[in-house]
Amino acid sequence: MAFKPANNIQDLQYFGEFGGVNPSISDSSTYTFLSAKTMFDTFEGNADGCYLYSRHSTPSNFYLGEALAAMEGTETATVTASGMGAITPVLLQLCGNGEHIVSSRTIYGGTYAFLKNFAPRLGIDTTFVDITNLETVEAAITPETKVLYCESVSNPLLEVADVKGLAKLAKKYNLQLVVDNTFSPLSVSPKKLGADIVIHSLTKFINGSSDTVGGVVCGTQELIDQLRNVNDGAAMLLGSTMDSLRAASILKNLRTLHIRMQQHSYNANYLAKKFEDAGLKTVYPGLKSHPSHNLFKSMINDKYGYGGMLTIDVGSLNKANALMELMQERNLGYLAVSLGFYKTLFSAPGSSTSSEIPEEEQTEMGLSDGLIRFSIGLDADIERTYDMMHQCMIELNILEHEIA
Ligand code: PLP
Repeated sequence: MAFKPANNIQDLQYFGEFGGVNPSISDSSTYTFLSAKTMFDTFEGNADGCYLYSRHSTPSNFYLGEALAAMEGTETATVTASGMGAITPVLLQLCGNGEHIVSSRTIYGGTYAFLKNFAPRLGIDTTFVDITNLETVEAAITPETKVLYCESVSNPLLEVADVKGLAKLAKKYNLQLVVDNTFSPLSVSPKKLGADIVIHSLTKFINGSSDTVGGVVCGTQELIDQLRNVNDGAAMLLGSTMDSLRAASILKNLRTLHIRMQQHSYNANYLAKKFEDAGLKTVYPGLKSHPSHNLFKSMINDKYGYGGMLTIDVGSLNKANALMELMQERNLGYLAVSLGFYKTLFSAPGSSTSSEIPEEEQTEMGLSDGLIRFSIGLDADIERTYDMMHQCMIELNILEHEIA
């Protein structure tokens, strides 16, 4: 039977302590034991179902983790205080001094900064590659390589990683394929395509209300046990734990993700087509002009579409800034980083979320000054939104510039 990520979330059933329709929130940092022996066994990792201390795990974090594991089709998951709080422990768990990572060069700026500036302090080196070229990826693998790292749809350039092709390489060289699926939850199921570990920043579409940061690592029971090990687990020892109250609120939002993703995708697809037709340089995986359109089409789960993210290039940073300010003034969205909100969010990644990437490298990867990244909202009337955006572009002479 086909893998149905939203059904897998819906089919979970956990009642609250008094029969509540939502599981009870465990508002405790520490847990009592009826016997000292069970406490010892729990420390050793041998007391299933027992909770010890909330940096390790909590019932509320367990419920959210299980729902996300069901969505991604992995054995289990652990939730973390932020997306970076998921990415960094995984990489540090998998790699040590003298070991090597091959990573896509078009990834979230914070991940890039971690790999480029921080991991080398611990003796971990990274080669950044064009992830869409499997030959280049293979050529970068060395005997020390432990991890292949990519985003299913990359931030901010919306490059699509061929997860199946990368998984074959990972198998061939005995590497772990780690995929950050933040931009395409439900649309893409990286584990189904062969990835070993799937990460999300829950801050974005999954929570969807821009009121918290959060993250998750979805993988095998063995990996999650390693991450939480009291002696040498990176999640346990680096301490990027999610708070139970947040885990409970994110779980409630997760239940409407399938409806939201359909609307984000519908709206983004509509705007992308209109922008392209108006002569703007538009990047959206749902457009036939996207270099990986057919690949992405073959990767996605039915119904959830091509996602809520698109970019346009308006030619210069000044024009990009003027357009974003005018769109905000007309209440078409907010000039803000991040994504997955009910309102459209826009920012110029070169000077914000990707500013950690040096200018010459930005140019090399095609990240231009005039690029605006949109996270398209849940607008009820996207035709009206387009008309109003179009009007802003006309007033700022942006369309004339592009068509000329
Ligand atoms: N991965 C991607 C693709 C992102 O866009 C971000 C944040 O923008 C992160 C990871 C980091 O997540 P967080 O901000 O929750 O730490």
